[in-house]
Amino acid sequence: MNIKKIAVEEHFGFPEIIDDSQKQLPQEGWPKLRQALLEVHGRLLDEMDTCGVQTAILSLASPGIQAIPEKQKATEIARRANDYLADIVAKKPDRFQALAALPMQDPDAASQELVRCVKDLGFKGLCVNGFSQIDRDESAVYCDLPQYWPFWANVESLGVAFYLHPRVAPSRTDLHGHPWFRGAAWSFGVETATHALRLMASGLFDTYPKLTAILGHLGETLPNTIWRIEHRLRVMPRGIPAKKPLGEYLRNNFYFATSGNFSTKALINAILEVGSDRILFAADYPFEEISEAADWLDNIDAISETDRLKIARTNAENLFRLRTASDAAVPAATLDR
Ligand code: ZN
Repeated sequence: MNIKKIAVEEHFGFPEIIDDSQKQLPQEGWPKLRQALLEVHGRLLDEMDTCGVQTAILSLASPGIQAIPEKQKATEIARRANDYLADIVAKKPDRFQALAALPMQDPDAASQELVRCVKDLGFKGLCVNGFSQIDRDESAVYCDLPQYWPFWANVESLGVAFYLHPRVAPSRTDLHGHPWFRGAAWSFGVETATHALRLMASGLFDTYPKLTAILGHLGETLPNTIWRIEHRLRVMPRGIPAKKPLGEYLRNNFYFATSGNFSTKALINAILEVGSDRILFAADYPFEEISEAADWLDNIDAISETDRLKIARTNAENLFRLRTASDAAVPAATLDR
């Protein structure tokens, strides 16, 4: 029997803002996706049962709170969305866990909401959907900027991981009249990799070395590009604040999830870059098929059974502290096999 998995990048929709997600997608197909985002206890649970997923770690569908320019409104909706998610989890806490959605438009409010989510609601971390729009629709404020550093200090001290999730790139980087570039096929990855590089280059991980980030889609292209980035910065230094070569942060502060990238070659490359202890299983429900993700992981010949188990569940159990005392009494290799 296949390993019972933990899927770490699965999404739900909050009714008040769910239609913002449509702007990132082709028009066709939205009604079905919208329904799926609202049917966590229906369709998602059914798919989890069918595909051998024990637990889904849920986060608000992109762009979520990050696309609400008014600070007060962002703060209020984040709170309501997190309460809504807490109710979803409370109905089946053995099947669902949560990542907080935060009003990054106001770093102090984001910090307070994170503390509430972790300490009062039992959330396991946070998910930030890329840059935030603040005050103006056309603004794009990234998380490496100095106003966010007290927030990151708080994340580090709480000991929770943050998921840096894609959203559509700012319109200035819309790619020359080829609309297919804008979404998941291309610009999600480039935009999110750029954001991750900003975090690394800023020196954030020198100041907060225990800060842990997660990138989906097997690293948003970075396992393929980090060598050249490091190489060019060594050959031609550009005065960035980071104290170490950027790849050191990628290997020491980042995990990669398999969401939407069910490529064995990409997985092997990711393992070669950060090690199998830093790879997490995810599908990216409802934008990808959980069955495709699960079948792929269950049947890869090129990895050991030890690595398959780590990727399927034990890395996530350790990172999100999901194992219960009774789980801990059972040797990991025998769990749910
Ligand atoms: Zn996703």
